[in-house]
Amino acid sequence: MENIYSNIYSFNKKVLKKTVKSLKQGNLAGLPTETVYGLAGNAYSKRAVRNIFRLKKRPKNNPLIIHYNNLKNARQDVSFNSDFFKLYKKFCPGPITFVLKRNKKSKLSPISTSNLKTVAIRFPSHKVIRSILKLTSFPLAMPSANFSTKLSPVSAYDVYDDFKENLKIIVDGGSSKIGIESTVVDLTGKPKILRPGIICSKEIKAILKKNLSNKKSKIKSPGMMKKHYSPGIPVIIGQKPKKIDHAYIVFGKKHKKNFNYFNLSQKADLKEAASNLYKIMRKIKKYGFKKIFVAKIPSSGPGKAINDRLIRASK
Ligand code: AMP
Ligand code: MG
Repeated sequence: MENIYSNIYSFNKKVLKKTVKSLKQGNLAGLPTETVYGLAGNAYSKRAVRNIFRLKKRPKNNPLIIHYNNLKNARQDVSFNSDFFKLYKKFCPGPITFVLKRNKKSKLSPISTSNLKTVAIRFPSHKVIRSILKLTSFPLAMPSANFSTKLSPVSAYDVYDDFKENLKIIVDGGSSKIGIESTVVDLTGKPKILRPGIICSKEIKAILKKNLSNKKSKIKSPGMMKKHYSPGIPVIIGQKPKKIDHAYIVFGKKHKKNFNYFNLSQKADLKEAASNLYKIMRKIKKYGFKKIFVAKIPSSGPGKAINDRLIRASK
């Protein structure tokens, strides 16, 4: 099939060069990662970072995650600690974000971190984003490539749905394998999960060999906003659909097949369920259903992240 979108590119060497050049000029690009698609810009450039907030309609007090290719580059902007090294060794590159103290000498645009003394950093594993980061001399500030408070994109076409021709380049790297945003862990004090993800608190606890903090955090950030991840139609949890134009999100074997039933994972696999969550919510919206009802989903492991996104989507 011919690509009818003038700004969506399949990844190859030529597109890699074109994307890096465009980012160096201060432009933004829609890029694939293993979690969700990101809206990327030079984190050292005030103009690029400002444009990320503007395009996403994101409140200025919601800091961006900064993406790096390796430790050497990240070290210029943040101070590492022993908890960080333990988690880095086990999970990176991958779907986990670390909040660390900002270095005095850091060149990060202060707007990117909402003027905080902390920086959230991630080392993504997707081969497209890694090959781009290898060729830029700067890290990429990269929130999800969608309008603030809406559903995150898991394909290049999802990115196009929100930003249309406002982006010069959207790189198609296939559908995002993980399908929900990274786990965010604050390592500036007693380790604390700020946003649950596929890598769950149990795994983090096991690596750090200590308990995590469950105190309420003061930092205001998008993943922590009550209303977020909204599909644009009402989401009702724990009830069954009542009308023909209501969709039902279910999980596991016991649910029968029905035209308005959407199973996150027939085989009751929570990782598979997470990877299907946004895809299915977008599909339901496109089919024209007016409301989404959701069956009970287990809250163990990745289930905690799924329920977190569903509860916020229902606000
Ligand atoms: P998003 O860009 O939507 O994936 O969300 C970014 C997440 O990273 C937020 O939910 C925060 O939890 C966290 N975050 C980003 N930057 C910082 C920072 N400088 N300090 C603390 N948390 C941050
Ligand atoms: Mg987001």
